Amino acid sequence: MAERGETESRKLLGRLRDTMAGDDPGQERLDKITHLIASSMECEVCSIYLFRDQDTLELCATEGLNKDAVHQTRMKMGEGLVGRVAKRRQVINTPNAPQASGFRFMPETGEEVFSSFLGVPVQRLGEALGVLVVQSRAARDFSADEIYALEVVAMVLAEMTELGAFIGEGEAMSALHSQPVLLRGTVGQEGVAEGHVWLHEPRVVVSNPVADDPVRETERLEEAVEQLRVSVDQMLEVSADKDQRQVLEAYRMFANSKGWMRRMLEDIQNGLSAEAAVEKEQSLARARMGQSTDAYLRDRLSDLDDLSNRLLRILTGQGRDTGAELPVDPILVARNIGPAELLDYGRSLKGIVLENGSVGSHAAIVARALAIPLLVHTERITNEALNGDHIMVDGEQGVVHLRPDDNVAAAFRDKIAMQAAAQERYASIREKPAETLCGQIIGMHMNAGLMADLPSLEGSGAEGVGLFRTELQFLVRNQMPKRSELSALYSRVLDAAGGKRVVFRTLDIGSDKVLPYLKPNDEPNPALGWRAIRVGLDKPGIMRMQLQALMRAAAGRPLTIMFPFVAQFEEYRAARREVDKTLARESRLGHVLPESIEVGAMLETPSLGFAPRKFFEEVDFVSVGGNDLKQFFFAADRENERVRRRYDTLNVSFLTFLEDIARRCNETGTPLSFCGEDAGRPVEAMCLAAIGYRNLSMRPASIGPVKSLLRRADLGAVRRVIETARESGEMSVRGGVMEYLREQKSSQ
Ligand code: PEP
Ligand code: MG
Repeated sequence: MAERGETESRKLLGRLRDTMAGDDPGQERLDKITHLIASSMECEVCSIYLFRDQDTLELCATEGLNKDAVHQTRMKMGEGLVGRVAKRRQVINTPNAPQASGFRFMPETGEEVFSSFLGVPVQRLGEALGVLVVQSRAARDFSADEIYALEVVAMVLAEMTELGAFIGEGEAMSALHSQPVLLRGTVGQEGVAEGHVWLHEPRVVVSNPVADDPVRETERLEEAVEQLRVSVDQMLEVSADKDQRQVLEAYRMFANSKGWMRRMLEDIQNGLSAEAAVEKEQSLARARMGQSTDAYLRDRLSDLDDLSNRLLRILTGQGRDTGAELPVDPILVARNIGPAELLDYGRSLKGIVLENGSVGSHAAIVARALAIPLLVHTERITNEALNGDHIMVDGEQGVVHLRPDDNVAAAFRDKIAMQAAAQERYASIREKPAETLCGQIIGMHMNAGLMADLPSLEGSGAEGVGLFRTELQFLVRNQMPKRSELSALYSRVLDAAGGKRVVFRTLDIGSDKVLPYLKPNDEPNPALGWRAIRVGLDKPGIMRMQLQALMRAAAGRPLTIMFPFVAQFEEYRAARREVDKTLARESRLGHVLPESIEVGAMLETPSLGFAPRKFFEEVDFVSVGGNDLKQFFFAADRENERVRRRYDTLNVSFLTFLEDIARRCNETGTPLSFCGEDAGRPVEAMCLAAIGYRNLSMRPASIGPVKSLLRRADLGAVRRVIETARESGEMSVRGGVMEYLREQKSSQ
């Protein structure tokens, strides 16, 4: 960086700061800024374009172009040179703009007389906010110093925009964070919620982007980086987890990176504060992250992003523990969140919206257990939302309304009211059986995994717990729970169930459920890997400990145990032998034994559907884990948004397979239930009942809707619809079943 560039840039920033310090209205500030930049860069034109909405840029101030075009000239993202700068988030520097590819002539601005064009994106943390442009009559290439100076100014403008410095009296100068926004996500837990945004990691606000004492700023940066290095080293010292260590090593590499430090120090020399220098680097990294298709590079850039956040928190003293109170009806917004953190918030949350996350993640399981509406994969939510923003989460349609206008809010509230009315209807049939029109009674059970779920047993009218996912207790801790802790917990679960049957599923870990304190396995296909009963049989220590805890908890009461992911008869037999051995040991040790023990198997792999008849004779009961069974039946990863929904549960082949399982259980008199998510979807549940499933286990909130439909269903008629679809070679029975429901409704 040449000496001239440094001083010019610093001088310009100094003047910019003075302009900002004044109490001019937003428009005047912008006008002054364009004037300042044009004169200091010796250009005839300087213009600022800001986003009006997500993809419309608006000329908000100009020195040199026709002033009447201000707030009139607009362009779409990608349109013209300005639109291209915004879209690609890259500088465009050309001595002959009218000849440059993408140039769009805008007569109202009178710009055709200007030949040279330099446009730089105004962006904050990878989010495009607008474009800053200088133009001049003479054909010239802007120098690297000039580009740098304009980028630094753009960075400061971005900070000011974020701080709302350009919000005018009449015209809103920037649509950012003030307009209604509709975002789409994927439903992780159904339900609707209205409330206010609570950012899990609030945006760090940089209120002092410009600084005039580079020596002081350099010291501040160096001190902060040192503090960061020490904290990374400390984390490395205590971390035993291989993956975590890898990330920390990468952090350490960045924290010691000379290039990173040098660029930030250069920015400080040019007039930026230490915070702004960190953020400038972070913005560049985010922009590159958005463009890179290389997974390794993206991971490293994301490490750098995280590291920059830490550095910013050190510099600004802003962080998670700001002492701020949760707003009324908090709706948590985050890039991602772990299950333990989510449990910390507990039921105080009204909804959760995640930018990343996945439907099968632990956080999603916890959200489901807590019955909090959850959306995942909601792109841009953490950029768009500010703490306290009014927000409505539609966990039916997978939509978020941020800062909704009155019409949207009113329609949404109608929807909530309709749901409340439906809830009342469900409450009115709570004590009634799920008896179909043809007189078949279907057992309604609930899925659980936390102590907090148990009160729903009463409220939902469930007959018992058809699936208790014991791994949640393991997942939310930092170390392996002790046998005594587990036994006390299981005992409390049985107490709370008050004599109703609880099916405890033994630890189902592996695949996506990784215990933080167990050595992770690098497996090419974890869903097909060392998981669930496979881990239990290979490492019997944990399985025995859990079985003991369950037996001690039951002490004199009936106990029901279910093994997950049984793929062949022998696995079930081996697990059962463990149960018998543990029982004998407990007896020798003098513990009170359970009154009775049932040992069941989850049917989650197609292979078990074809197990020998003897398996069905020996097993005490079978529960179909449809989530896993479906993914293996169709070879479609349940975690992969691209293929997850490709195959319908009501697919004729899948239903034929499920029906065959029911037939086999029927032949041997083996009790059968279905406990995958589909049991909680009314139409799917009705079809399962029609093909012979007499017990369904689902989230407590689904019991009302499922029971309500079953009470209106004639299973014989549904069977005929399924058979017709089968005979006609249709792929799914859904069309026919929906038609049946429509006809049935209109005839009532
Ligand atoms: C299933 O696979 O259907 C099931 C209930 O188990 P999980 O969702 O916990 O894998
Ligand atoms: Mg499963």
